[in-house]
Amino acid sequence: MSIAGGLFRAVERAAEVGCDCVQLFTGNPRSFPKHARDPKTRSTAPQRLFGDDQVGRFAATLAETGVEHPISHSSYLINLASPDPQLWLKSIDTMEDELRRAGELDIPYVVVHPGAHTTASSEAGMENIVRALDELEKRLPDEAAHCLLETTAGQGTCLGWQFEQLGEMLNGVRCNDRLGVCVDTCHVFAAGYELAERRDYLATIRRLDKAVGLERVKAFHLNDSKTECGSRVDRHDHIGFGEMGVEPFRHLVNDRRFRKTPMYLETRKGEDESGELWDKINLQTLRDLA
Ligand SMILES: [Zn+2]
Repeated sequence: MSIAGGLFRAVERAAEVGCDCVQLFTGNPRSFPKHARDPKTRSTAPQRLFGDDQVGRFAATLAETGVEHPISHSSYLINLASPDPQLWLKSIDTMEDELRRAGELDIPYVVVHPGAHTTASSEAGMENIVRALDELEKRLPDEAAHCLLETTAGQGTCLGWQFEQLGEMLNGVRCNDRLGVCVDTCHVFAAGYELAERRDYLATIRRLDKAVGLERVKAFHLNDSKTECGSRVDRHDHIGFGEMGVEPFRHLVNDRRFRKTPMYLETRKGEDESGELWDKINLQTLRDLA
């Protein structure tokens, strides 16, 4: 949900369409923060970014609306796998700010795409991610939020499209008990995991369990996919309107293992031809399946 007009507005917008959880950006997802620090001049911890009024109003709106599980999504520019040392450090700085900002708002998790190895080998990319997560762990105070590594579609050189890669990242980090995983249905499907037939869904979840452990799955992104299974192209679609259809969502929203795990829509906003909000339509589709 958009934070235009104030952070609390994202919570209000979620409540308006009937959501009981909310995902938001706490900063501009398409630009590095102005104060992204030069590592050489970096000496003190970053300043608090939100005033007491913003923090208080955000908390009050959650309480008033009953919306729970606020979660934040990090900037798209962050690449913790980058072989370019400047960009890698800038990514760590930006991620540090993301986790501190979320912590100020009492948001427990920030979703981050693990990163793309670009011109380096995938092994080098994996190492960079692990080193970045270790560095963040060192820098962050206890009150900061924790990283959720999101499953990716495996587009280009993006890492984290195989569950085993996520498992390797988590296992590589020295102190990993604060880290978790966010499973995006569209990405998992585009990465090649079958989900429609019940036995395929169960096999996919078994593989996830074996590679990362279901207790590490702290959130789901529920999106249908415009592209086919195994396409490795990330294009979200409305629930039931894409290549996935409704069956995978039926399995997921009825899986008792995830009944306490928050699930967030990341489908396109706007209205259908009849003027109904897509958020409401997608929510209704999911609730009807449950
Ligand atoms: Zn997602």
